[in-house]
This record gives sequence, C-alpha cells and structure tokens, in this order.
Amino acid sequence: MPRQAYVNGRYVPHNHAAVHIEDRGYQFADGVYEVIPVHDGRLVDAELHLQRLEYSLGELRIPMPMSRRALQLVATELMRRNDLTNGFLYMQVTRGVAPRNHFFPKDAKPALTMTTRQMADKGRSPDWGMKVISVPDQRWARCDIKSIALLPNVLAKQAAADQGCDEAWQVDRDGYVTEGGATNAWIVTRDDTVVTRHLDEGILSGITRLSLREVLAREGYTLEVRPFTVAEARNAREAFLTSSTNYVMPVTEIDGNPVGNGHPGLLTLALRAAYIDRVVAAGAGADSFAAREAAPA
Ligand code: PLP
Repeated sequence: MPRQAYVNGRYVPHNHAAVHIEDRGYQFADGVYEVIPVHDGRLVDAELHLQRLEYSLGELRIPMPMSRRALQLVATELMRRNDLTNGFLYMQVTRGVAPRNHFFPKDAKPALTMTTRQMADKGRSPDWGMKVISVPDQRWARCDIKSIALLPNVLAKQAAADQGCDEAWQVDRDGYVTEGGATNAWIVTRDDTVVTRHLDEGILSGITRLSLREVLAREGYTLEVRPFTVAEARNAREAFLTSSTNYVMPVTEIDGNPVGNGHPGLLTLALRAAYIDRVVAAGAGADSFAAREAAPA
C-alpha cells in the first residue's frame, strides 16, 4: 500500500495529501504541531505529547480537533496503514480554513493533519556526536508554545548546516543558552552535575527533557535547573541535547571547540542508554505534562 497521510478526517495517499490554500497555517502559521517518536510500532510518551498539544492549542485559543484519545486512535491507524515500526509521527493542528483576515474566524473548524516517517533506529545513533554552533536567539516571546512558525529556528539550523554542523544553540541577550533550533540543551559539569535551563516562556518544554528528568531522579543523578553560558558549555566535561528525533545525543563540539575530550561523554551515553531502556522501550516516562514545573529541580 502506498504511504498514507491523514487530512481532516480522511486517509489519503501521501503524494496527494494537501490542505486548502486559505488554511490559516499556510497563511499565518496559525497552528501548532507535535512530533512523536515511534519505537517497535509504539508511540513513545504519546500522552505527554498530546497534553502538550492541548496546552499549545489552549494558549492560542484553538479548540482541540478531537479528544486526546481519538487523536491517539487516528495516529495508531495511520501507523498501521504505513507499517510504521521505527520513526516518528508528525501531527499538526491549525485554526482552520477561512478567508484571509488576521482576526480569528468565527466558524472555522481546526484543521488536523498527520504524517509518518520511517527512520531506522540507526538514524538516532550517537556514534559521532553532534557539532553545535551558537547563534543569537531571534525568536518570539512565547517559545513554550509549539508553534509551526519556525522561521528563526530554520535560519539557525541552516546556519549550522552551512558550517558543517548539526544544530544551533540559541543564546539570549544575557549570553545564556536557551535551547537548540529543535532540541533542548544540557551540559555536565566537572563534578558530574547535569545542568539544563529552567522552563519559562523562553523555551519549549521538551517531552524528552521531561522524561529524562524522571530518569535522572530515579537513577540518583544530581540535576541543576539553571541557565548556562556558551563559555560554560565549552568548558564543560560533557554536553548533550535531547529531542524526540534524537533522544539523548552527545554534543562533541561547540563553535569549533571540542567539548571535554571531543568524544561523546560517558555520562551522556549512560543517560542515553537509561532513557532508551526506561522511556523508549519500557514506556516509563514522566507522569504528566502539567506536573512539569512541580517536579523537584
Ligand atoms: N526545543 C525546540 C525548539 C524544539 O523544536 C524541540 C522539538 O522539536 C525540542 C526543544 C525538543 O522537544 P521534544 O523533546 O518534545 O521533542
């Protein structure tokens, strides 16, 4: 069967999947999205991703297109049709279709699309470690919303690619790393403390970050939730990034300088293994997206 996509209530061949020219996502980037990893035919941390989707939509006053449970059923059916074993599911909700006008349309129904992408687990292999550049954070003031308006992220990541690197760490006006173009940023200090920036409207609350915090707490690692500068990251023992498509990935170079000995860090690799065991394979991630701020630092 050819690969299929889900578009507003119908499963259609991926090549023919299309939305209306006046979809507000197309016109205004008026929508949000989720990327949910799929491992061995199962969605990873699906409930947390759907809770974050509901949060993002709520902040933009876009109604949920259907319940979280129904979204999961559609996602599972699309995975079945596409024979998806490893990879990810992309889900996008926009405010819907309406004649172009900035004001919220009165009667538009949210538009829902889903696609899947097969990606061998090898694509997530940490063998080489990632190279990162630092760039000014040029985004808007609500990065906690997983908006489809990604132009600054696109430019940041392209700047990285232009320099033969994999990711761009965005830096705020005070010199602190906020997060990557599509990943959360972490370092490990010389006394083995794991550090990642606090949550607020300046970064996305990554689901991988959230579940990795659970793993850190269970395994007794020391975590400090605070900002760090590029200079601190360059001098750190280890650095890594997290996201649904990378899980936990070592960072071995920042702005052309090696981190630590320039090889993937041992603590990072141990965390990656623990994350894959507990969260990806066993499905034991964080309990709830809403509880993210309440968890001990
Ligand atoms: N930060 C940004 C800006 C992102 O776009 C993403 C993922 O796309 C992340 C962090 C990581 O989030 P998650 O772990 O939920 O994939």
